[in-house]
Amino acid sequence: MLRRHSHWVLPLIAATVVLLVGARLITLSVRERSEQLRVTAQRVVATRARSIETELAALSERARHEAARGAGAMGAGPDATPPDSLHSERGIFWMRPDGSVLRAPAGDAAMASAVASEWASSAAAARRAGTALLGPVRYGSQWIVAALAPISSPRAGAAGAVPWCVSYEDLDALLARARLGSLVSEDYDFELSQRDPLSGPARVFVGSQPSGLIEPAARPIREPAAPASAAAGAFLTLAIRPRTGWYPARELAAEIGLLALIAWAAAFGAYDLTHSLKRSQSALAAARKRLHAVNERLAGEIEQREHLQKSFEHARYHDAFTGLPNRRYFMDQLDRALRAIRTRRRQRIAVVLIEIERLRLISDSLGHTASDELLLQAAQRCAQSLTGVEHVLARWGADKLAVLLYEVESASAAQGLADRLQQARAEPFELRQHRLSVNSRVGFATIDSGLQRAEDALREADLALSIAKEQQSPRAVGYLAGMGGAAVSLVSLEADLHVALDRREFVLLFQPIVDLHGQRVVGVEALLRWRHPVEGLLTPDKFLAIAEEAGVIVPVTRWIIQRVCRLAAEWRLRLPQQRDFYISVNLSAAVLRAPGLREYVAQVLHDTHVPAANLKFELTEGGLISNVSTARAVLDAFHDMGIELMLDDFGTGYSSLSYLQLFPFDYVKIDRPFASRTGSERANNAITSAILQMAANLSLRAVAEVVETQAAAQTLLQMGCDFGQGYFFSPPVEAEEAFRQLHNPDGFSTREPVGEDDDDSPTLMLPAGVILESRIKDDSDASEEESSTT
Ligand code: C2E
Ligand code: CA
Ligand code: CA
Repeated sequence: MLRRHSHWVLPLIAATVVLLVGARLITLSVRERSEQLRVTAQRVVATRARSIETELAALSERARHEAARGAGAMGAGPDATPPDSLHSERGIFWMRPDGSVLRAPAGDAAMASAVASEWASSAAAARRAGTALLGPVRYGSQWIVAALAPISSPRAGAAGAVPWCVSYEDLDALLARARLGSLVSEDYDFELSQRDPLSGPARVFVGSQPSGLIEPAARPIREPAAPASAAAGAFLTLAIRPRTGWYPARELAAEIGLLALIAWAAAFGAYDLTHSLKRSQSALAAARKRLHAVNERLAGEIEQREHLQKSFEHARYHDAFTGLPNRRYFMDQLDRALRAIRTRRRQRIAVVLIEIERLRLISDSLGHTASDELLLQAAQRCAQSLTGVEHVLARWGADKLAVLLYEVESASAAQGLADRLQQARAEPFELRQHRLSVNSRVGFATIDSGLQRAEDALREADLALSIAKEQQSPRAVGYLAGMGGAAVSLVSLEADLHVALDRREFVLLFQPIVDLHGQRVVGVEALLRWRHPVEGLLTPDKFLAIAEEAGVIVPVTRWIIQRVCRLAAEWRLRLPQQRDFYISVNLSAAVLRAPGLREYVAQVLHDTHVPAANLKFELTEGGLISNVSTARAVLDAFHDMGIELMLDDFGTGYSSLSYLQLFPFDYVKIDRPFASRTGSERANNAITSAILQMAANLSLRAVAEVVETQAAAQTLLQMGCDFGQGYFFSPPVEAEEAFRQLHNPDGFSTREPVGEDDDDSPTLMLPAGVILESRIKDDSDASEEESSTT
């Protein structure tokens, strides 16, 4: 409440102060003004009083003068009469000592007797000897003042016995001469009064204010003969008062009004000031609050950023699945260690590569994360076996670990440590309620020359590992000079991979897919090659795993899709209308997980004006299982766009055909239908046949891959397989050659163009130089077809 009205406090104080000070000032100024007024009035009243005194003196003088004149001519005694020569003029009469009129002017006898009787009835004390003033005496409506002078001749008797000469005058006339009326024009009220000698109330003779004057400025009018000091000498009293009073109300009102105005202004100003002060205070508080909030947010953001930075750093250097340090981290450490050797801070180091065998099998049977779990367990065991040894352990690949050993005393000491690592896997692993025995192969390289590059060190360890694998060595294999040979190291490829796309080192080959019935090319599979500047032309098995792990596969696949669509557009223009064909592109699981692939494909198809039917995608089971929901959403979308899907490498994995029903596949590609499986040929055939049967039941078309012989092609056809792909028909070839084969219904061979044959009847040139039975059987149809089109 108090707080709510607190903004009134200052204005109230201001107004009060102004009022108090103003009132004090006004009081002072009013007092001073009234003092001034009084001084002025005193001066004015004195002037007027003196004028009246002068007039009265003149009246007395006249009486004295007449008396003197009369004294000379008159006899003595109370009855002495002035001579007739002194006949009374107007304004003069003679009087006996007893107060009877001796002689008076003709017209004024009554007036004279009125004056005389007044004198006679006045107190004896007042009847002094010598000149005296008398009156004012009422005569009719007039007031008469008179001056008396004794006629004291040498012959006259005692003072009380001489006659008097009286001069008299109308009071109004006397006052008019004394210019009493000018007071009115000077804004004074006035009053002429006489105090009763017997202390009766004052009698007012003339006044401008009937009600009388309050607190007037007064001045006694003395008898001329009386000395100034005589207290009783006041004959009359003149009092004046300013008409506006001593405190001029109008000016006062104006001043009070002004004061009120100033007080109001001060209050208003103070109010405004407090208000704006309050406003700016609250604005300041709000700004401070905002600032605080911004500060807090900023601090939060910084913290978040630091956290992110840390997690980025962690993600940059660690494997997402096992949390182990990754390749990048390992390479960094190796680089540092090599630098330390160069600067002789270290003497010898060893790089060890450990490959866990059958890890892929575990991942296929127990699930994708199982292999990661196993790898992590293996890593923990390795770390345990190296207790007390300075080392770095990292995940090197899907089934590989890399160990960097610092401070290795000798090559044989390195061998000992590497063997320890080899032994780490001896005990079976506990994994998801299974006891698993796994094998590992270990290769290592010892480095004591600082001139070696990290890539070289890894290449050597990798070569040693490949020897260990080749020899199924139960001990770790150390790198020896001369081991190099033709083996290509994978380890140094990663760095090169990142720039390969920019350097246009990737190329595509195309392998025809053939309709086994009609022996014509229905489509081609795009297969990636890397023209490595040092290693030469590399097949996917050399770099694909690294490309997937390094994420390079995503931009590479986008590049492939674009390249393939452009090619398809070109081929469509060059092929006769109605000629259907497709180009299939292999999609890795990593690519499916990357966002925006669907939109990208749609955009490319749109841009190149290629119908979706000209494009197909091939996918392996493994990639799909690890992420069913994402894969399914993307594949459904592709299928809805009209792109047909092929399940690749079917029969090599460990999953069942039931997976097929989860995804919208149109084709199944059967990998090595006869070659890879163990067991009798009959058993193989039975499996392949069963697969084909199942595919037919599921309305899937089957493509047999790796068809290398005529016999295989023939058997497959008999088993009900519709399409085939393999060296028997054509190896992967350049785009132009693939087009030639596609264009020419019979041309699988690159050796002899079909058109060069003189024979009108088309002859099928096969790599093996043999003619398929089915081909022979269908020959007549084909030639019919051929002749009908030509
Ligand atoms: P895949 O999809 O099963 O491709 C068929 C592989 O078998 C190709 O190997 C091909 O050259 C080879 N091949 C074809 N006919 C025969 C034959 O009669 N006998 C033998 N022994 N081999 C034959 P390539 O080109 O080395 O490709 C290997 C794998 O790499 C492919 O297997 C595929 O999974 C993957 N791959 C190839 N190109 C790409 C690609 O562009 N993207 C993705 N993600 N993977 C690709
Ligand atoms: Ca394929
Ligand atoms: Ca395949």
